[in-house]
Amino acid sequence: MSASLPSVVFLDRDGTIIEDAHFINDPNAVRLIPGAAKAIAALNNGKIPVVVVTNQSGIARGLITQAQYEAVRAASEEMLGAEGARIDRSYFCPHHPDVSGPCECRKPASKMFRDALGDFGVTAEKAAYIGDRWRDVAASKELGGRGILISSPMTSDEDRRRAREMDIEDAADLQEAVSRLLSLTEGGAPK
Ligand SMILES: [Mg+2]
Ligand SMILES: [Zn+2]
Repeated sequence: MSASLPSVVFLDRDGTIIEDAHFINDPNAVRLIPGAAKAIAALNNGKIPVVVVTNQSGIARGLITQAQYEAVRAASEEMLGAEGARIDRSYFCPHHPDVSGPCECRKPASKMFRDALGDFGVTAEKAAYIGDRWRDVAASKELGGRGILISSPMTSDEDRRRAREMDIEDAADLQEAVSRLLSLTEGGAPK
């Protein structure tokens, strides 16, 4: 079976693109993870939509206002832009089940991914899902596509175990995950 480029790449934000500062609400505290901009720029060059899908329960918990979320998003995108990288669109879930009740968007639920697939007019079959928690990549099994769990200080053994159980790949970081996606092969070796 020959592989091909992803139709869309879904990226978690905190711990994947920017350092997870835990309910970050200050745009001045945004720090890009080394290599993240380069990885995203490579996807941009491949004309692959780059879509951020992020759980922001700090909003439900009253730790982040929606305006602060937007300011952090804008700062992150500005820093990426300075390194030649572009996020095509961002989706966020402001909920937390303990505070705002159940919702269909908080990952591992799939609504944000489904919304994005509709908005970009692509199927899930060739989508890729990259994040540092199991819940970022679990929707790959529900919707189809390829999940890659990367590692951050927030990645737990439980995340790794659940991903392994679902036969979800892992990679050291975003850069490694993206290189694998762009190598056009199943096994990661250049074709
Ligand atoms: Mg994360
Ligand atoms: Zn939600």
